[in-house]
Order: sequence, then C-alpha cells, then structure tokens
Amino acid sequence: MSRITPLVRPNIASLAPYSTARDEYDGPIGIFLDANESPYENGYNRYPDPHQAELKARIGGIKGIPVKNLFLGNGSDEAIDLVFRIFCEPGRDNAVIMAPSYGMYGVAAAINDVAVHSVRLDADFNLDSEELLGACDARTKVIFLCSPNNPSGNAFELKQLLDICDRFPGIVVVDEAYADFSEKGSLAKEATVRENLIVLQTLSKARAMAGLRIGLAISSEEIIRLMSMVKYPYNLSRAAMEKAFLFLENTIDNEVNTIINERKRLASALPRFPFVQKVFPSDANFILVRVDDADALYDYLLDKGIIVRNRTRVPGCTGCLRLTVGLPAENQALLNALDSYTV
Ligand code: PMP
Repeated sequence: MSRITPLVRPNIASLAPYSTARDEYDGPIGIFLDANESPYENGYNRYPDPHQAELKARIGGIKGIPVKNLFLGNGSDEAIDLVFRIFCEPGRDNAVIMAPSYGMYGVAAAINDVAVHSVRLDADFNLDSEELLGACDARTKVIFLCSPNNPSGNAFELKQLLDICDRFPGIVVVDEAYADFSEKGSLAKEATVRENLIVLQTLSKARAMAGLRIGLAISSEEIIRLMSMVKYPYNLSRAAMEKAFLFLENTIDNEVNTIINERKRLASALPRFPFVQKVFPSDANFILVRVDDADALYDYLLDKGIIVRNRTRVPGCTGCLRLTVGLPAENQALLNALDSYTV
C-alpha cells in the first residue's frame, strides 16, 4: 500500500468509474451506433476522446512529463476541485492554505464542505514553514501552496516547497499557474517522482489560452489515476483540444520575454508616483502595488477604461491593486493615466 492510499476518501477508493462507450472500441473506422450521437457529420457530432491521448502526448512532450503523470482538466480550477473531492471528507477533514493566495482554494473547499486553516504570509508575503506545518492537524489532508503566488506575485524557493512536501504526511499542491514568468523554476519533474506532490499548471497564462479552459495536474501515477477516474468523462471539449493542439505549435518565448521586460519597466516606473507606497517584487505576469487610496485609484482607472484588480479588501493586501502586465502600449497607457492622476 502506498502512503497515498489511506488518504483517499473510502467512497472514491471503491468507486467504479463510468466507462464510456468508446472505451470498448476507439478505432477510427466503424459504424458507431454505441453512444447515441447524431450520425450527421459536422466535425463535432462525436464525443471527444475522454483520455485526451493526443493532447496529453503533445503537452507531455513539450514539458518532458510522461503521459501517465499528466491530468488535463477544464482549467486548473477543475483540478483544485478534484483534490478536495478525492481526499477530503466533507464536514470532517480540512485543508491548510496560505493567505493571501488564489481565492478558488477557499471557494472549492467551501463548496465541498471542507474546513480551511489559513496561514498568513508575512508583510512581504514570505511563508513561514513552521507556522504552516503547525497549522496542520490529524484531519489536514491537503496543503495548497501557490508559487508564484497570486495576488502577491512572489515565488518561493523550490527548496522550501520541497521541505514542506517532505515533512507533511498528506497531499501538497503547488500551483504553478505563473511559473513560466519566474526564474525560480518548477517542481513539475519532482511531482512525477514524489508520492504526495501535485503540481498545477495551466495553458491560461503564458500559453495565452484562457478561453479554451485547459489546466494541468502533474503528479504520481496513482494520484493521476484517481483524478482521471473522478473527472467528468468528457471534461475537455473536442473544440478546445483541437485549438490547443494547434496553438501549441507556437513558441511563447518572445511573448514571455516581452511580458517579463514590461514587468520590469512597470516595476521601475511605478515607485516614482507620489501616491505609490510600495511595489512588491513579482515573478509573475502581474504586479501588486500599495497606494494611498486603492478604491479611489481603482475608480479613476476604471473611468479611464483601464480595468485592474482591486485587492484592498483581501487580508494582507490593504491599499493594494493588482496590475496585470499587458502589451507595451497598454502598459504605457496605464502609466500615462497614472501621470495625470491627481489625489
Ligand atoms: N491558479 C492560480 C494561481 C490562478 O491565478 C488561476 C487563475 N487566475 C488559476 C489557478 C486558474 O487557472 P485556470 O484558467 O487554469 O482555471
């Protein structure tokens, strides 16, 4: 028995997953009278591949991850929800998350009736591992870490994340949605050789496919098997998979480099505004900035047709706006608007 097996909810461990009609025959030619589809061809009249074999092979090839260690979901949000559904007994187990961090961990926990213990990051958004592990109890099944973290933008050292992974007996999720913008590296390969680590990535950010809704989980074969068993059979549409396959032909190096350069440009331009109190260092495609009156500046920018994210009501982010790095001209428009802002 692996160390994961006792962490799985008993109803999931004993689940007989839905087997699709196409599991029994997946050849290209045949008279398909098995799935109650329309026989009239339009490119989308047939169900998509529930195993996503082609897209997985392509993404696995690009990332150097074996297909058996790869799960594809309807955005990484699906993978977050699945972690709760597989490991956390509603009304009984709990998860430990950092605060501030990505809001969906808490929302998915609440939907699944799973309690959350929040551990506050310090004023510069550093993570105290002892405090984090101290917040875990016998009912803590999962720790959610996010690196680079949303909304603060900072990435943690891989060594710190792996140390947490070594010391926690449950599941550790490291959300790397923004890792393509970071120089601190990725734990994706580590997740294939460690039993309790799940790394989340997404095609929504650097890969520019947020509208297609494709997220990745990279983990041990056992965890990937559980996630594949619990997901909806056809969780990725044929249209999304086709488009993604096509877009994966494009390299993203130029775009990512431009965004990183623009992030640096914004980070050095922002402190010169008198109403800017602090620009937090970012390893992501956004910058968190503390200003004198976040609500007033947010409204002013909105009025100018510039939409940013107001995080002032998030604990630890008082006075903060989160600015996504856009095209160079868009970032310039933001700086110009800030130039003409009078408090
Ligand atoms: N993780 C983090 C840290 C995010 O910020 C987001 C989206 N903002 C997601 C996951 C969700 O990404 P997806 O589009 O893959 O569902």
